[in-house]
Amino acid sequence: MYDVIIIGAGPSGLTAAIYAARANLSALMIEKGAPGGQIVNTNEIENYTGFQKLSGSDLALKMFDHAMALGANYEYGNVMEVKKIGDFFEVITDSNTYQSKAVIVASGMLPRTLNVPNEEQLKSNGISFCAICDGPIYKGEKVVVVGGGNSAVEEATYLASLVQHLTVIQNLKELTADKKAVELLLKQKNVTVLYESLVEEFIVGDDGKLSGVIVKDANNVVKTIEARGVFEYIGWLPVTHMVKPLGVTDQWGYIIANEKMETSVPGLFASGDVRQKQIRQVVTATADGAIAVQNVLKYLESR
Ligand SMILES: Cc1cc2nc3c(=O)[nH]c(=O)nc-3n(C[C@H](O)[C@H](O)[C@H](O)COP(=O)(O)OP(=O)(O)OC[C@H]3O[C@@H](n4cnc5c(N)ncnc54)[C@H](O)[C@@H]3O)c2cc1C
Repeated sequence: MYDVIIIGAGPSGLTAAIYAARANLSALMIEKGAPGGQIVNTNEIENYTGFQKLSGSDLALKMFDHAMALGANYEYGNVMEVKKIGDFFEVITDSNTYQSKAVIVASGMLPRTLNVPNEEQLKSNGISFCAICDGPIYKGEKVVVVGGGNSAVEEATYLASLVQHLTVIQNLKELTADKKAVELLLKQKNVTVLYESLVEEFIVGDDGKLSGVIVKDANNVVKTIEARGVFEYIGWLPVTHMVKPLGVTDQWGYIIANEKMETSVPGLFASGDVRQKQIRQVVTATADGAIAVQNVLKYLESR
């Protein structure tokens, strides 16, 4: 029986593993893919304190090595379900069942994607899901935002301040974000909105990077929009299927946890992008991981 099982080895889970190792907890971190989480596929990180600029995969490796050097216990596995049985947990993966006194869910989230031709190939080569992270790369360029909800409109307004021209592609007749946010976006002189339009395909340029987007409108008119960057804001899917039966998620599937990372189930903690929160960045994910472990310690003492 472990003291704590950490689900996910992204920035949040790896930080939790570091704090757990230093606190002498018997801890197991379970990861279904490459350790590092979302940052593994991130070109450059320029806003993580202490590192002016480094690639996401380098930061992921540094975090993983740090956890391993402290003796963190890591296993490959896809967690399917977390059960609370009396005062302990059963964590069921595709190949094993583990038991622990506490669980930290740090499984992050995945972006919804358009599933159109060339999308997979251009991820990290023009297609991004994070304007704060990748926006500055496209300073002075032509850029597209796909989506019309709050995230799309707020991020489009931010991007408009950086880029030469921004086209927003929205599938509905209007932008569905808050009125004020929409007004702010539409005031920008370098923004065009294409309503009732769908992305048909992304174009790969001679350099292997994105060069444009093929769009079809409600009258079936097809046009090509020149763009070096596309930001898809059509929603995120928190990875919380494994704890759904425990009733700790909100209507969008994010885990509800307080500032101690405690959920409503004693011993079950949530950390990083997977929880309901305002800012999802590496720095907030790592902070959550540290806080979660401090409160796991308190929980174990109180049992
Ligand atoms: C394109 C892009 C660029 C970004 N750029 C920046 C940036 O420049 N700066 C910045 O601060 N932030 C950036 N971010 C945000 C940052 O990546 C996230 O905030 C951060 O990775 C969240 O860490 P996390 O550990 O909570 O979740 P994640 O990084 O999502 O890690 C979760 C981990 O859990 C694993 N997992 C999921 N389900 C299971 C399961 N069932 N069983 C086992 N393991 C599971 C996943 O495989 C993954 O490794 C970017 C995000 C994206 C998408």
